[in-house]
Amino acid sequence: MDVLSEKDVALTLLTHDAGVVRAALRGGRKRFRRGALIEILTEVSVTLFQKEGADLARADGLELERSAFGLASRAETAMLLPYVAESLATFLPEAEAAPETYRLTRHVLDALEAGAPADLSARYFEAWLLRFAGLLPGGTECASCGRDLSTGGARFDAELPGLVGNECAPPGAVPVAGAALRLLSEIRRSPLDELARRGAGDAASLRALDGLLREVRRRFLGHELKSHRFLGSLSDGP
Ligand SMILES: [Zn+2]
Repeated sequence: MDVLSEKDVALTLLTHDAGVVRAALRGGRKRFRRGALIEILTEVSVTLFQKEGADLARADGLELERSAFGLASRAETAMLLPYVAESLATFLPEAEAAPETYRLTRHVLDALEAGAPADLSARYFEAWLLRFAGLLPGGTECASCGRDLSTGGARFDAELPGLVGNECAPPGAVPVAGAALRLLSEIRRSPLDELARRGAGDAASLRALDGLLREVRRRFLGHELKSHRFLGSLSDGP
């Protein structure tokens, strides 16, 4: 059994090699008071010890690699951090390697630091995270017959799950807007910093894709993530 003492802090870490790991940081409360070392989505290096059967690993030798303080202190990106963290904790199974999700998260944080818009970054992160979770696989071809979905109407089939053409859709499959598909297809093809540089994703496409990704989450979870509602005010901008 592992006991969390009063001075310890329980951390949820996204690790490169072991996915989501919950760990106790000994004496963490003192360090918590002192600063940003264990702030949300800050990248750290740490040694983890996991005893067999223990709920929590032990974290030791915590060192700051890259702070997310800059993002946390900007109004446009501050609310995105808890949302990204909640999404990771929701869609990643514990203690299962997820190097592609680690890379995705780092990539999105880096692009945000370099000035990528928060709403485009949020859609990019969601689209890839839901793909890695197997909830929105593939690109923008029909998951049943393989035809290109850029014309002719498309729906989201939550049973498959995937995108299908109208001709292959079962009753009740949700219609997907063309604008959502076009932006999704761009997201599948290009990294976020490049999309941001060329100004991809107008307001209507971002809203349409938000609608699709919301539906994918809602069909799977039965509800929306708690921190998603704070994102709405961001995308309106000044
Ligand atoms: Zn089809």
